[in-house]
Amino acid sequence: MKSINDVNFKGKKVLLRVDFNVPLNDRKEITDDTRMRESMPTIKKLLDDGAALIIMAHFGRPKKGGFEEEFSLNPVAKHLSEMLGKSVLFTQEVLVDTVAGFSANLEDGDVMLLENIRFYPEETKGDIGFAEKLAKLGDAYVNDAFGTAHREHSSTATIARFFPNDKYFGFLMESEVKNLEKLIHNPKKPFTAIVGGSKVSSKIDILKNLAPIVDNIIIGGGMTYTFLKAMGINIGTSICEEDKVEMAKELMKDMEKNNTKLILPIDHIIADKFSNDANTRMTSDQSIPDGFMGMDIGDKSIEMFKNIILDSKTILWNGPMGVFEMSSFAKGTFAIAEYIAKSTKEGAFSAVGGGDSVAAINQSGFAKDVSYISTGGGAMLEYLEGKVLPGIKAIID
Ligand code: AMP
Repeated sequence: MKSINDVNFKGKKVLLRVDFNVPLNDRKEITDDTRMRESMPTIKKLLDDGAALIIMAHFGRPKKGGFEEEFSLNPVAKHLSEMLGKSVLFTQEVLVDTVAGFSANLEDGDVMLLENIRFYPEETKGDIGFAEKLAKLGDAYVNDAFGTAHREHSSTATIARFFPNDKYFGFLMESEVKNLEKLIHNPKKPFTAIVGGSKVSSKIDILKNLAPIVDNIIIGGGMTYTFLKAMGINIGTSICEEDKVEMAKELMKDMEKNNTKLILPIDHIIADKFSNDANTRMTSDQSIPDGFMGMDIGDKSIEMFKNIILDSKTILWNGPMGVFEMSSFAKGTFAIAEYIAKSTKEGAFSAVGGGDSVAAINQSGFAKDVSYISTGGGAMLEYLEGKVLPGIKAIID
């Protein structure tokens, strides 16, 4: 993998694709600039070398084709300028043709941010003509947008064709790719995947792809109950995808064939309604009485999962163990975070990814104690499903 570290970009105009899709409040203030901070090492390296930057980013999902105030990167441009302590040339124009003039006049160390690249419908189609126009703006291409690596868009994938010898991963992308490869190719054994969240349907492909790779799959969260139902166990009013019960049966057979242990919770915290102030209690076994729903894993399950986690050398966590957004049902999820952190301290490699798991590990206070937290929810999930990510392939090919 060619790293930007091996190259000096002095005097080059670098087209840099980043993921600056940050959350804004009603006053158009950035409420969390994590994504911007994560690409700072790449930006700083390129600027320290003496490159001029042409930054490409998207914001939200504009639909109309053309400028829409609501999706403008203007607040991001202002914040970027503050972060860098220098002015950023923000191209309000939507047409790439107009921008070419600005680009031609950029000097070493200058930073230009293009307006939301998705104002062009060509972008999400991966249009080659559009990619070529973009490519003409610079001399090298660096992709640091792991969050969009699963999209075959003009600025995330197609554009790389125009830089056969000058295309690179930024530091963030490079680290994501290295960590994911470490996880899927030659992981240290035992390898345990902990998969939770609300639905089996959204995790089926991951479970199928992981089955031959991992030793243990721990299931938690709402998807537990579709599996228990498949086993003929009473699940009360717990969340269940009736139409996925057969699929759950097949998955269980799949695991058996692959000698992968599928481990389900053996007890639960149950509630009489989906609410933090519901009447709750812990079951003594796997079954759930009528009128109650499973909301979190129980103490015996936590203990069982803990032992497996502490015995593992590679751990992947995706999806909470319960409705952790409600304090009454957060214990299982936070306990898992704690034991993953402990196992990591004892030498395991741990990876956490997927929107809710990242929120959960952050809330648990153990985020700093795991080996790797993925910044790309959808991209990481597709990688774990065994798909080739166009943003990665475009650079490697
Ligand atoms: P996902 O996006 O599929 O990873 O699901 C995450 C969501 O699953 C979170 O919002 C959790 O509140 C929810 N969840 C976890 N456990 C349960 C459960 N036992 N019943 C209903 N929802 C759950």
